[in-house]
Amino acid sequence: MKMIGLIGGMSWESTAIYYRLINEGVKARLGGHHSAKIILYSVDFAEIEHLQKSDRWIEAGQMLSEAARALQNAGADFIVLCTNTMHKVASAIESAITIPFLHIADPTAEAIKATGISTVGLLGTRFTMEQDFYVGRLRNRHQIKTIVPDTEDRNEVHRVIYEELVHGRILESSRRCFVDIVARLEQRGAHAIILGCTEIGMLFDQAHIDLKYFDSTKLHADMAVKFALVEQ
Ligand code: GLU
Repeated sequence: MKMIGLIGGMSWESTAIYYRLINEGVKARLGGHHSAKIILYSVDFAEIEHLQKSDRWIEAGQMLSEAARALQNAGADFIVLCTNTMHKVASAIESAITIPFLHIADPTAEAIKATGISTVGLLGTRFTMEQDFYVGRLRNRHQIKTIVPDTEDRNEVHRVIYEELVHGRILESSRRCFVDIVARLEQRGAHAIILGCTEIGMLFDQAHIDLKYFDSTKLHADMAVKFALVEQ
């Protein structure tokens, strides 16, 4: 089994979910008392959030590159960055290491393609919904078209992520609001929804919405499990 290097803390609420899912996945495949081999580098999210807000992405990339290098030096065989947003600096991280980097958009895209769906709604931070690092990868590498919420809905999704979900606050009012936003995306042509923020799965599940969704956290964690066990 390979040693998984997790860069977490963005937020730790969702890193805890990764930790559980990866361990459950290894146990499901190997049985018995098996669990995952993991080294976790968990950052102080306040530092990252401050750099995001002040548009200092190069520094954020340097900080996460250092984390990736530390994991590689500690013996990690590959890197999993436990957030969608910070994949904005994925190429900086990749160029700082020689071990593989599992990009979160790829397992999400593969799962979507396997269903034959090609147009999806995207929920995430404003960075993820509005910039090209995520949507562009889905379009160029995977031929998946994304529809993002309108400005007002994007602001609300972003607010709920930073003011509630990363603090572990799950509010029924926000759940209802997300359900309405999903319905509007469906009306505009989305055939499924990407939960493109690693905390959104804490807010609702398939029981709350009719439209099929793809949870980037689950799919990324699942890819990590498969990759860790590929030679078994
Ligand atoms: N975990 C979130 C994501 O998947 C948002 C927090 C962050 O900015 O990293 O995008």
